[in-house]
Amino acid sequence: MEREREAVADAGRRLAAEGLVIGTSGNLSLRTGERVAVSPTGAVLAELEAADVAVTGLDGSQLAGRLAPTSELGLHLGIYARYGSGAVVHTHAPTATALGLVLDELPCVHYEMLGLGGAVRVAPYATFGSAELAAGVLEALRDRSAALMANHGAVTHGPDLAAAVHAMRLLEWACTLYWRAATIGTPRTLEAGQLGAVVDTIAALGYGAPRAAEPPG
Ligand SMILES: [Zn+2]
Repeated sequence: MEREREAVADAGRRLAAEGLVIGTSGNLSLRTGERVAVSPTGAVLAELEAADVAVTGLDGSQLAGRLAPTSELGLHLGIYARYGSGAVVHTHAPTATALGLVLDELPCVHYEMLGLGGAVRVAPYATFGSAELAAGVLEALRDRSAALMANHGAVTHGPDLAAAVHAMRLLEWACTLYWRAATIGTPRTLEAGQLGAVVDTIAALGYGAPRAAEPPG
């Protein structure tokens, strides 16, 4: 799991450098088969090293590492069990956390939010590290790669660490967009028909992936 521990430490430092994680307020993990490399409890993510990263089984038993895993391990393992994801990221990113103080759902106001599955649900508040919190977040993540956590923060997951980190960046961007718009008016929400047309266009154009230029005519 050395490569995975290195990847978790690397992504933790990047999330901190980008301001998505402040101090010890976040955690992340990467699963390979039945093993999970997970950031330790109490760690300053900006200084995370591979040797700090714990390795556990899917039952939470610690297999390697000198530090205990994050107190949100149950949330991470629950997401792996229910959704078969490859990586999970949890942060208290500033704008995502702010919107989770106010909203019950972040509406789909931009087509890029389709990358998160559409409108983002806000899971009910419960004490950090609790089974109740994990259960609420798991439900909020149905058909989504992101959820907000009321009065707490945000969680994203994906097939690999790059995808889970990207989803967290996208979520914080969407929250910032919504917040800025809401200060000057009521943000318009995209309708199902408009989103369906975007999905059709992406499928038809292969949009988002680099494409070779047409040869000069
Ligand atoms: Zn938290």
